[in-house]
Amino acid sequence: MAVLPTPADTDASVLIIGAGFGGIAAAIELQRAGFRDLTVLEAAPEVGGTWFHNTYPGAACDVPSFLYQYSYARRTDWSRGCPPQTEILDYLQTTARTFGIDALVHTDSPVQACVWSADDRRWTATTSDGRIFSAGALVIATGQLHQPHYPELPGIETFEGEAFHSARWRHDLDLRGKRVAVIGNGASAVQFLPEIAKVAGHVTLFQRTGNYFLPRRNPAYSARKRRLLATVPALQTARRTAFTGALEYLTSAIRHPRLIGWGPGAFSRAYMRWQLRGDDELRRKVWPDYTFGCKRVLISSYWLPTLRRPNVDVVTDRLAAVEPGGLRTTDGTLHDADIVIYATGFRTTDFMLPMQVLGTGGRRLQDVWADGAHAHLGITVPGFPSLFLMYGPNTNTSGGSILVFLEAQARYIRKALELVRVRGGGAIEVRPEVEAASDRALQARFDGTAWLTCQSWYRTGTGRIVANWPGYMREFVARTAEVDPAEYTITGAPQPETAPTA
Ligand code: NAP
Repeated sequence: MAVLPTPADTDASVLIIGAGFGGIAAAIELQRAGFRDLTVLEAAPEVGGTWFHNTYPGAACDVPSFLYQYSYARRTDWSRGCPPQTEILDYLQTTARTFGIDALVHTDSPVQACVWSADDRRWTATTSDGRIFSAGALVIATGQLHQPHYPELPGIETFEGEAFHSARWRHDLDLRGKRVAVIGNGASAVQFLPEIAKVAGHVTLFQRTGNYFLPRRNPAYSARKRRLLATVPALQTARRTAFTGALEYLTSAIRHPRLIGWGPGAFSRAYMRWQLRGDDELRRKVWPDYTFGCKRVLISSYWLPTLRRPNVDVVTDRLAAVEPGGLRTTDGTLHDADIVIYATGFRTTDFMLPMQVLGTGGRRLQDVWADGAHAHLGITVPGFPSLFLMYGPNTNTSGGSILVFLEAQARYIRKALELVRVRGGGAIEVRPEVEAASDRALQARFDGTAWLTCQSWYRTGTGRIVANWPGYMREFVARTAEVDPAEYTITGAPQPETAPTA
């Protein structure tokens, strides 16, 4: 077996863009493997990514904390099954500090452009204030749920009250007694609307599509349970195993809607019917009209009861325009509002906006992806040497923990860079035919699944699924366990006799 040169022997520098769960996972993985010249650029003033930006009331993770944490940095004293945003942000920032990653992070450094130079085989990243960083490899970890999406409604700028997106919560505004309009009823709205309905004078929810719900009360752990979970490792393992099984089962329901999905679908419908008993009109309004699992299944015991509150209305007429005093729907009604909250999700099919990424020959990644983003294992793209993506195309999960995916991606990137290192340096690039074949195989795996039965944020306008991995967590982990040198070309370095093993 070839001996690994130390990082100092080769150009081992790596630039990571984004200091959320993905960027921090990549930095920890590379640092633990001996890569020393690491720089992390983060647009926000703090480490945290989506958990820094999403501070709306009730923000929490609907994936249980025992699975929503790094496997090598397990916290055992979580306050509840699905902890609040503050606890998750604190966990991520503490982990970054514990591993010494915070010292590598340049905050307030939004990157405008990343350019590959074939001559010196380096990436150069330019921040909006003109600073230039360069490195032999680039990891883009800017996430899929990053750029707030606003609906294209005429008159949106004419609204005379306050308006903001759920991912940019205006904590300076007092909602008490106000008439609040909420557009959208996805995972974010489902968490904050029950909270604001407790204080607002009136809430009008503008809903386009009904959703499926599964129960989750999420009470705080009792002191005894917390002590037990913190001190009995077998209990922690049992929880992780149980949650993993439950999430893989949810994926099997989405993958096989007729054979398996009918079961959880029927359970969800029965649960919703029970929560909405006695209110047929509301039930008709909020009822989903698509296959269970096509959109994200929402997990909340509080959403439907909140919609029954006297100060909450659900409007299913389509929005026509925003006017100075509120929102007008297509039936001609003006719904007065003091505050409009856009819970309309993110620009999920436009990866990495507003950054420009230029690869070999100055080719723009956005142009390569004009018909929908694609990458080998969601990580590498032909024509973009030594560029790696964290949470890239087709690595989202509707029934799993993204942390499992991120750790697998970070490991894969580390192994790819070790392969470069063992060859004495150079640039690594996935072979175009390998990427094309793996993309065809991946897209084919969506056939027959629930994901193809409706439009969702996982799909482009043409219907191509660009967000989700089509299978199980365990498959992604297995598929990315090793870097196959035959799938890559390494340019600018002598070829070694042997490749590194794990
Ligand atoms: P989302 O799921 O994309 O929901 C956006 C909502 O806005 C949908 O109800 C959508 O309706 C509606 N909408 C969009 N454009 C509209 C328009 N022009 N007119 C009317 N309605 C419009 O966004 P999100 O709630 O922010 O959640 C995004 C993702 O973030 C989630 O799926 C999840 O992966 C993640 N998330 C996770 C957690 C967690 O606890 N782990 C919490 C929050 C978010 P349609 O359904 O009809 O498109």
